Amino acid sequence: MNNSKLTASELMELENKYGAHNYHPLPVVLDRGEGVFVWDVDGKKYYDFLSAYSAVNQGHCHPKIINTLMEQAQKLTLTSRAFYNSQLGLYEEFVTQYFGYEKVLPMNTGAEAVETAIKLCRKWSYEKKGLAENSAQIIVCENNFHGRTTTIVSFSVDPDACNHYGPFTPGFIIIPFNNADALEKVLKENQHIAGFMVEPIQGEAGAYVPDDGYLKKCYDLCHQYNVLFIADEVQTGIGRTGKLLACDYEHVHPDILILGKALSGGVYPVSAVLSDNEIMEVFQPGQHGSTFGGNPMAAAVAISALEVIRDEKLAEKAFVLGEMFRKEMNGLCKTSKIASFVRGKGLLNALVINNEGHKNLAWDICLKLLENGLLAKPTHTNIIRFAPPLVITEKQLFECVDIIKNTIIEFE
Ligand SMILES: *Cc1c(COP(=O)(O)O)cnc(C)c1O
Repeated sequence: MNNSKLTASELMELENKYGAHNYHPLPVVLDRGEGVFVWDVDGKKYYDFLSAYSAVNQGHCHPKIINTLMEQAQKLTLTSRAFYNSQLGLYEEFVTQYFGYEKVLPMNTGAEAVETAIKLCRKWSYEKKGLAENSAQIIVCENNFHGRTTTIVSFSVDPDACNHYGPFTPGFIIIPFNNADALEKVLKENQHIAGFMVEPIQGEAGAYVPDDGYLKKCYDLCHQYNVLFIADEVQTGIGRTGKLLACDYEHVHPDILILGKALSGGVYPVSAVLSDNEIMEVFQPGQHGSTFGGNPMAAAVAISALEVIRDEKLAEKAFVLGEMFRKEMNGLCKTSKIASFVRGKGLLNALVINNEGHKNLAWDICLKLLENGLLAKPTHTNIIRFAPPLVITEKQLFECVDIIKNTIIEFE
């Protein structure tokens, strides 16, 4: 069957008819991508301001990463971890030195890496900290997003994410985000705490940036109480927020670091858990694993993807362009009745829409943005996340600022 003969509406109909309805996509059928741009099946070009939820920080189909993928695909794709392979050790050396850790445990998706971190933290707490078997508690934050597995949704407060998926995994304590006192209170009162897991900026919740000093305070408290500080940088990491890691803003070096998404530049599912020997050594042969985790394709691709971030100075770029973007959006918010305010760091930003009297306003704005050549998606009804690939140029960014401003004006 020649797909190119099908129209956009026919292709959407296929997804509707044969695919589970667990997403509500914007009505556009993408067919090709390059850098900051994607094209639909009719050849219309768009700026991508979602970047596959920050997985394509390096831009769509980055030639260096794609070359690595193609070369490795023709050589060796999967061996399982029953054997050594010629890429994994090189990657493990590269990624641990890149982020400053002694050990890495390779997985595929973000959720799997979060699950791995939870298992690692629990096992550490029994074997090293000396908690009583099955008593370990991990502290997490309200409005977190850490993925979709049964255990992870057990500590979600989003009804869509958790309703009717019980019974849930016990062992989690939910505290408010951006509140170090709340953390201290639990640490003081509860002797069974193994770890504290946090997104340095809450991405899915709508780019919630905590106060300066929050992460450092939490990190220090964790160390005071011999509790592991676990940072989920699946979305915030790898240049997105204007530093290599969002934790770098406060010089916090997490005990366990979780990465995913842009670790492969979006061409392959690659995730990782990084930690030091003292912690990682609790995993012994047979105690954790993944058929695809650490495969030679993933290993080769991840090295390339991280080289692109470093060589093209994408974190530094995100920092500078992010400042410009928020300045422009702040200007817009001053004169607009419907654009309330903007928040974010680097190129992870969110525009909050005043949707009083027009509940679906953010969705309708996104439909209009699509018409005007820019793809963005609302989160939690009234928030629009703006997160272009980090390879965007200043000139392109200002073109996009114009598209956004002109689109908002149409709704005033
Ligand atoms: C996307 C995301 C995940 C889950 O990653 P998947 O690859 O979709 O499983 C976990 N944590 C955070 C912070 C994320 O943004």
